[in-house]
Amino acid sequence: MSILVMKFGGTSVATLDRIRRAAKRVGREVANGHDVIVIVSAMAGETNKLVGFVEETSPLYDAREYDAVVSSGENVTAGLMALTLQEMEIPARSWQGWQVPLITTSAHAAARIEEIPTANILKKFGEGMKVAVIAGFQGISPEGRITTLGRGGSDTSAVAFAAAFEAVRCDIYTDVDGVYTTDPRITSKARKLDRIAFEEMLELASLGAKVLQTRSVELAMRYNVKLRVLSSFEEMSDDAGTLVCAEEDIVESNVVAGVAFSRDEAKMTLQGVADRPGIAAAIFGPLAEAGVNVDMIVQNISDGGTTDMTFSCPINEVKRAEKAMADAKAAGAIDFAGLVADTNVCKVSIVGIGMRSHAGVAAKMFQTLRDEGINIKVITTSEIKVSVLIDRKYLELAVQALHDAFGLDRAA
Ligand code: ADP
Ligand code: ASP
Ligand code: MG
Repeated sequence: MSILVMKFGGTSVATLDRIRRAAKRVGREVANGHDVIVIVSAMAGETNKLVGFVEETSPLYDAREYDAVVSSGENVTAGLMALTLQEMEIPARSWQGWQVPLITTSAHAAARIEEIPTANILKKFGEGMKVAVIAGFQGISPEGRITTLGRGGSDTSAVAFAAAFEAVRCDIYTDVDGVYTTDPRITSKARKLDRIAFEEMLELASLGAKVLQTRSVELAMRYNVKLRVLSSFEEMSDDAGTLVCAEEDIVESNVVAGVAFSRDEAKMTLQGVADRPGIAAAIFGPLAEAGVNVDMIVQNISDGGTTDMTFSCPINEVKRAEKAMADAKAAGAIDFAGLVADTNVCKVSIVGIGMRSHAGVAAKMFQTLRDEGINIKVITTSEIKVSVLIDRKYLELAVQALHDAFGLDRAA
């Protein structure tokens, strides 16, 4: 038996007509002899709408109820996809996460997959079912509550199923025909990559390129899943799209593989905190407990016993961060003079495994931004990436300038 996993993102199942088109693709793979596991997202815009309902109802919501609400978009598309396949006389049925059951941790809104039992679905394939349609993005916690895997989590559902069922391949169908050197919506010079290394894709994803959820790339790397990104709108040959693969399988690549960005960042500065041992733990402990995803951190040089501590986090976590800091201050755990939130920043990053062996990449990035008159507020680096926090109004300009400066419109 050869199992193929096909994942259709929100735009690919946005209407009944698109679901029919996706189902036809599935039908072709069934005709090719595969048993197919289809993972579906919610219809485009649906999850955002549900998140909006939750936030309007309860700004500091109970994450268990958030998951109960936002997971529901996928239930609709899973059922509709199964019905569409049945109309095409392809034996199919749908599963919601809890029915599989796809067991996750209890970290609501950002749960991690722990286990996917295969026996049930394999038995159905053995009995002649051709397609198992799975509602992506959702699972069930050990406590029996519905969980979700974080935004974009259907990608992770897909790769996890591919790993659990030892699928021949995991095809991610989306609204672009592969992974590009940067988001093609920002510059028409963005170039599609035939291949990209797991490490680079991992960084691009975690730095904001939402074409794949970070965790899906981690899983594909760990379980060596053959992962392909391709368009659900264009007719494509079998070697089309982008293959995400091991570094050794790439012959030539640029020093910088791509530019990623994250638009909705906030920079928060705690002013006048005591410069003493344990202060970082006293600040970032409560932030972590409050579910604030702190990214960059800078501590200023101490000025007579006090210092400023700056960190960045997603813009929609600012309220949580402010509350966590106010509570910690009220409890006497920390003292600070003020907390200033700058919600007009974004993060732009360059990524490439070539940086390991090439000096001067960061310097070139900073010169490029200087030449455009863009002020850098915070910098972080790792072995294969450099990230900067800048004013949001410069996002497009910075991405385009960096794309040009590193010659990303041309292959190596
Ligand atoms: P889906 O709903 O299919 O999961 P997403 O919207 O989550 O699709 O991801 C696809 C989008 O990712 C594209 O429309 C594109 O705008 C964006 N994107 C960001 N960075 C990249 C990149 N480097 N390559 C391709 N697409 C990218
Ligand atoms: N529907 C979910 C979201 O919009 C999951 C996904 O599409 O991958 O985040
Ligand atoms: Mg997505």
